Amino acid sequence: MQLDLGPEVAAFRIEMRSWIRDNVPEGLADVVNWHAPPVTGADREEWDRALDHPLYREWDRRLTRARLICPRWPESVGGRGWDAVQMSVWAEECHRAGVPVVTRGMGEAFVGPSIIVHGTEEQKAYFLPRIISGEDVYCQGFSEPNQGSDLAGVRTRGVVEGEEIVVTGQKVWTSGAHRASMIFVLCRTDPNVPKHRGLSYVLVPMRDNNIEIRPLPQMSGAAEFYEDFLDGARAPLFNVIGGLGGGWRVAMTTLGHERGGRASTAHLAHEREFWELVDTARKYGRDTDPLIRQQLAWAYTQVQLMRFAGLRTLARLAGGREPGPEASITKLFWSEYHRRLGEIAMDIVGSDAMVRPDGPGYPTDGWQSVFLASRAGTIYSGTSEIQRNILGERALGLAKEPRVEG
Ligand SMILES: Cc1cc2nc3c(=O)[nH]c(=O)nc-3n(C[C@H](O)[C@H](O)[C@H](O)COP(=O)(O)OP(=O)(O)OC[C@H]3O[C@@H](n4cnc5c(N)ncnc54)[C@H](O)[C@@H]3O)c2cc1C
Repeated sequence: MQLDLGPEVAAFRIEMRSWIRDNVPEGLADVVNWHAPPVTGADREEWDRALDHPLYREWDRRLTRARLICPRWPESVGGRGWDAVQMSVWAEECHRAGVPVVTRGMGEAFVGPSIIVHGTEEQKAYFLPRIISGEDVYCQGFSEPNQGSDLAGVRTRGVVEGEEIVVTGQKVWTSGAHRASMIFVLCRTDPNVPKHRGLSYVLVPMRDNNIEIRPLPQMSGAAEFYEDFLDGARAPLFNVIGGLGGGWRVAMTTLGHERGGRASTAHLAHEREFWELVDTARKYGRDTDPLIRQQLAWAYTQVQLMRFAGLRTLARLAGGREPGPEASITKLFWSEYHRRLGEIAMDIVGSDAMVRPDGPGYPTDGWQSVFLASRAGTIYSGTSEIQRNILGERALGLAKEPRVEG
């Protein structure tokens, strides 16, 4: 099915296609498979090296000059004010050319949109351009050792001292903390009110600020997330988004974008990966096995369903609506699919899947990484059980689960 989005969008697509053709550094598409879905295996190191590649850096510079970093954001803060359809066309055209859509990670995907909705004009003017330029690189400090799914129960404390907020506590599973210069923290600033109301959302500088980070090795061999010990980390009160005690609403905006943000383009990466698996099945002579064929047909159907669900999300965003509880459908669908795909890949590769490649550390090959790391997808950004709760209660209006106050 081809979606006709009208002549304006068609013209925009042609403009973007020619811009990419005229500006992409030669050879960039061959540096790495830029459109592999996000997995957290050891092949991530190859990805990290690719991000340091001179061709990638040059592409980043050219995109920055053309205001093509965070183009969704308002022109007043350095974006282009694009709508969701334009963003989707841009991602499709980059995908078509085999080149990366350069993003500013969590800063672009979560923090920026939350500031745009809940920040003051001064906060937008200060924080958003710093994300675009890459000066501020964010990681997410939500989860704690005893507070993951029950996010509203966070215990990290924030105490106001003059014009500053002083943050003390422990966060865990912080992805990319070693690369970040800022952490967005949900902390408790008022212990005397119901738990959702006593929280604040604070942008805390990471460096020289009484924050110690320790890596947590994963079963895929990589160590990409960290536990963080904040022992009186300071931030100006200016860095509190949504006001003191207003953190829960800001966190919900962040999570809405985390769960549904890439909905309209996510299928592209999965589709490419699916065809790679078909190639692998051919290589192993499994493409004639009826059971494997059946599983591949199932996988293809899921990718197409993802595509259609993405179009529905796109229509919602194009209509100016925020991702709502429906974002949970997107999250639940791709994460459960990807975990199953990893299992199918293991079936196809057979006994070879049990042998890791040679090399220092704990290297895993591409499909091993997908198998191991895709399990994390059903946990981060809210587990599958939590997504089902949200869908049951907030999308379908079913009875709420009994509350257990701890
Ligand atoms: C790869 C990865 C990256 C991550 N990155 C970050 C990050 O950058 N920043 C960050 O803050 N966090 C991050 N996380 C943490 C993630 O958000 C939490 O792991 C997740 O929210 C689950 O919390 P938990 O681990 O404490 O599990 P728990 O909340 O203890 O849950 C344990 C089990 O109980 C189930 N459960 C819990 N409550 C309910 C309920 N009410 N109904 C039904 N079942 C329930 C859960 O589904 C799960 O199966 C990351 C996690 C992973 C795996």
